[in-house]
Amino acid sequence: MSSDFSPVAANPVTTHDYDLIVVGAGIVGLGAALEGVDRGLRVAVVERAAAITGSSVRNFGHIGVTGQSGAALEYALETRSRLLRLGREAGLSVSQRGATIAARGSDELALLALLAEERGSDQVVLATAAEFAETTPVRDPSLSGGAYLPLDLQVDPRTAAPQLAAWLEERGVTFHWRRAVLGIEPGTVHTAAGELHAERIVVAVNFDVDQFFPEVAAAAQLRRCGLDMLALDWSGRRPLDRPLLTGSSMLRYSAFAQLDGYAALRDRYRRDFPAVVDLDINQMYTQRPTGQLIVGDTHYRGDAILPFQAESSFDELLALTRGLFGVDDLRVVERWQGVYASAPDEFLLHSPGDGVRVASVTTGIGMTTGLGLAASVVRELL
Ligand SMILES: Cc1cc2nc3c(=O)[nH]c(=O)nc-3n(C[C@H](O)[C@H](O)[C@H](O)COP(=O)(O)OP(=O)(O)OC[C@H]3O[C@@H](n4cnc5c(N)ncnc54)[C@H](O)[C@@H]3O)c2cc1C
Repeated sequence: MSSDFSPVAANPVTTHDYDLIVVGAGIVGLGAALEGVDRGLRVAVVERAAAITGSSVRNFGHIGVTGQSGAALEYALETRSRLLRLGREAGLSVSQRGATIAARGSDELALLALLAEERGSDQVVLATAAEFAETTPVRDPSLSGGAYLPLDLQVDPRTAAPQLAAWLEERGVTFHWRRAVLGIEPGTVHTAAGELHAERIVVAVNFDVDQFFPEVAAAAQLRRCGLDMLALDWSGRRPLDRPLLTGSSMLRYSAFAQLDGYAALRDRYRRDFPAVVDLDINQMYTQRPTGQLIVGDTHYRGDAILPFQAESSFDELLALTRGLFGVDDLRVVERWQGVYASAPDEFLLHSPGDGVRVASVTTGIGMTTGLGLAASVVRELL
């Protein structure tokens, strides 16, 4: 097998501390650890932070199965069944109430109708404007209808990955927190506190693939994508029972991209909603078990993401929220920045040497696909 590593002296008496070492304790790394422990492997997770602080706790918690196509849909379906199992066995709070998507304009409704035709009316259930308003807090006068997406799930993004890590630890996975990985070669993970050995290594470090394998990252055109997010006090308002997406979401999920009318909708957004296009907004919402409404999100890409979040971006997100829900007084309780890996392809998968696999979700669908992707990567290593 070709190798991206410089040759190292072979050590015929190397002992393996573990059967599988996973670098990174985000949802992808935890998914690899889950598959490993399910298969009876001795698994260690090495994480440079003291807790889970990456993309996997900064997101909406929307498991958007219906919006995917191709490999992403396969990973999403596998992720879905794993999450349902984790709901039963690990106590994760996994809502099976599906998701909703609001259509504003006949073009958005037409796209939903085409998706319903393609996927079947059990996966995409169309609703009239009156039905949609009846079941959601949406009060936008331009509402033309919507759809209910029963396959989608919702988890609480702040607690799902930490709970999974705690459960894996109970099942015997060793977690090395606050231990930065400095280098990887077949059989060996070099950390800031010495070497660890395993026959199989999964590198699940999100955008930091470029720190270990710069040529691989460059070939994949890997960059970072920064996102502005906020949470609102939603007490006293009609609850949002399930994730709520909008037409701007249709413009980013691959299931819509091949449908007739997609390009025309994109053109209309450029014409009618230039701020949404300039800020690359996916206007969507989920409500946390605490009651807070998560609002997002803008997107900006680069090799480095500066931490300075423009207040004008939040102003735009809030204006869109007022318009959609017909509310004026909004109280922001949190703001944060997320960062995820971004590339033209949805996944970066690479085998830099024997027994080593790099896996990164290179668009904003890692909660939806990460557990399925990680499981398939571990299966390949067996
Ligand atoms: C704002 C936002 C909203 C999103 N919303 C959704 C959504 O609703 N649905 C959805 O499906 N997806 C969503 N996503 C995308 C999803 O959150 C990510 O794709 C997913 O969490 C990526 O998981 P990960 O495990 O690859 O990365 P991370 O969670 O970032 O984990 C990578 C880990 O690797 C560790 N690491 C890196 N380098 C080293 C090193 N040298 N040594 C040791 N450890 C290291 C990091 O510390 C980190 O903990 C969203 C993302 C963001 C940012």
